[in-house]
Amino acid sequence: MSDCIFCRIVAGEIPANEVARTKDAVAFRDLNPQAPTHVLVVPVAHLSNAAATDSDEGERVVGRAVRLAVQVAAQLGIAESGYRLVMNTGADGGQSVGHLHVHLLGGRKMTWPPG
Ligand code: 5GP
Ligand code: ZN
Repeated sequence: MSDCIFCRIVAGEIPANEVARTKDAVAFRDLNPQAPTHVLVVPVAHLSNAAATDSDEGERVVGRAVRLAVQVAAQLGIAESGYRLVMNTGADGGQSVGHLHVHLLGGRKMTWPPG
């Protein structure tokens, strides 16, 4: 059994509020939402973060995750109002779970710069 929490969610070993799934990626609600809509899109393949995707396969993994995020934004009704996609990467990027994920945040006006 993997000790990676997102691998375990992908495998169905830990429950999550799933909103979409393809063969490549799973989208589920963040446990600690930072916006009215806050979904995590997680590739099925375990890659630690964006820094581990500098390859043809990595490019496909990220592309498919972003594509699912775009589809989920439409599914959840925030495509028109807009949203933010975030990939926290490493310590200074604020990454706390070491399995690549795209945050989909929407349902409110985002501020800039991020904290
Ligand atoms: P990071 O800080 O790595 O960019 O994002 C990790 C995100 O995963 C955080 O927003 C955190 O709330 C979320 N998270 C951590 N553990 C779980 C979990 O077990 N289930 C769900 N749904 N979200 C989680
Ligand atoms: Zn993992």
